[in-house]
Amino acid sequence: MKTRRLWSFSGGLKLPGHKNPSTPMPIVQAALPKRLVLPLQQHIGEAAEPMVSIGDQVLKGQVIATAQGYLSAPVHASSSGQVVALENRPIPHPSGLSAPCIVIETDGKDAWGERHPVENYRQIDPSHLRNLIRQAGIVGLGGAGFPTFIKLNPGPQPKVKTLILNGAECEPYITCDEALMRERAEEIIQGAAIMAHALNAYHCLIGIEDDKPEACTVLAAAAAEGIEVVPIPTRYPAGGEKQLIKVLTGQEVPSNGLPIDIGVVCHNVGTAAAVYRAIHRGEPLLSRIMTVAGKAVAHPGNLEVLLGTPIRHLLAQQGANIQSIDRLIMGGPMMGFTLHDDGAPVIKTTNCLLAGLHEDTRQPPAMPCIRCGACVEACPVGLLPQQLYWHARAKELDKTQDYHLFDCIECGCCAYVCPSHIPLVQYYRYAKSEIWTQEQEREKADLARQRHEFRQQRLAREQQQKAARQRARKAPVTPSASKAEKQAAIQAAVERSQAKRAAQKTAEDEPFSSP
Ligand code: SF4
Ligand code: SF4
Repeated sequence: MKTRRLWSFSGGLKLPGHKNPSTPMPIVQAALPKRLVLPLQQHIGEAAEPMVSIGDQVLKGQVIATAQGYLSAPVHASSSGQVVALENRPIPHPSGLSAPCIVIETDGKDAWGERHPVENYRQIDPSHLRNLIRQAGIVGLGGAGFPTFIKLNPGPQPKVKTLILNGAECEPYITCDEALMRERAEEIIQGAAIMAHALNAYHCLIGIEDDKPEACTVLAAAAAEGIEVVPIPTRYPAGGEKQLIKVLTGQEVPSNGLPIDIGVVCHNVGTAAAVYRAIHRGEPLLSRIMTVAGKAVAHPGNLEVLLGTPIRHLLAQQGANIQSIDRLIMGGPMMGFTLHDDGAPVIKTTNCLLAGLHEDTRQPPAMPCIRCGACVEACPVGLLPQQLYWHARAKELDKTQDYHLFDCIECGCCAYVCPSHIPLVQYYRYAKSEIWTQEQEREKADLARQRHEFRQQRLAREQQQKAARQRARKAPVTPSASKAEKQAAIQAAVERSQAKRAAQKTAEDEPFSSP
């Protein structure tokens, strides 16, 4: 491993890792559940459209819902069986709401449909490669769930210098990426090579926190030319996209900008492995590696889980005492969210499930802000969390935007250090969702206003045309018309009338036939 110059980001925290129970555990295949529940939306963007009906038999890997629009991803059957329901079911979402899902009763055969692996991806045009990745339903597996093929499109002017693979895994408890890097390094490296080819990227850096030495060593040994494994200091949130880019390249992604603006594209290591499987084996995204941990879990570990597997099935498999669970969190303790129903399924973005006991999850009551400034020091984005909090609390949404609310990555560092135990991130999430809602309502109102204006214009135009026709009918024959012109006009009218009568007669003579 070469030594490489690294940079630092402001703020951040050294957190207790709590990774020991699951870190050493190898990846175990989770048991096939009796029923798979596959939400039509498992990513950022539009929900997919169902392609199956109740009673249909499906094979593993078969498309059961197609992407709708550009920012969307198809859904595939993660095992073979029969479609038994198309209905709203609880989904893993902070709202706790239900959403449309396809339910498959598995037949235990796990029988594959057709697969079409690619012989040599280097001979394939990058746009075709992106299309294959799109058809495989791959979205970012690090948690955000952005469709991968879009991030692999550098645009008309190729400008990607650096592809970065994110193996930092900075949140406490989560160890699934570390297990993947240790056990499937070859898949990640080959996936990285495919991604670099699609992007025409100059080189690839894989950033891994230095508390995962085995993963660093194994990945570095597998790395091909142009791919560099870089250990980075362990400090939360080093796995944040902008923070990782800063640490590895020294470059700052501009506020309201994207990494591509500075020639960088960032993907999770799990996404790279999924790309490898899609291209080399012709397998769509049907499963993912995730961590199941927390004090209520008797056997914490890293599991390969079929998408659609109900959470309660996994908890039972890992020996969790369901009655003792006080809080279920999907994701890590810093950026995850509370699950309201353990019947919700594992989806493409589920990287961790934490089942906590009451004593772990008890929150002390919030006290007034004492303006200590600890939150400002901890913020890795250089925001003023205290001001954001005041304005969000006062519903002064314009002012939250003046303080760059949308640059907040919801890392939770500010809330973690707050001596008053103020749930700061909840205020930021509330303010963001209010702004989005208002924006959507404004768009709807604009659309309704535009429609109304178009209608008014159309009615006015029709009125004008009608008036013009009436004027034309009433208008006397212009005196300037010559006698010959008048004669010609009368003759033409007589001929039109004769032709019409002839046509009517022909139609009357035709025998009746049903259409
Ligand atoms: S850390 Fe908490 S108490 Fe201190 S300034 Fe920030 S919000 Fe106020
Ligand atoms: S949650 Fe937002 S405001 Fe708080 S520390 Fe993280 S980025 Fe800064």
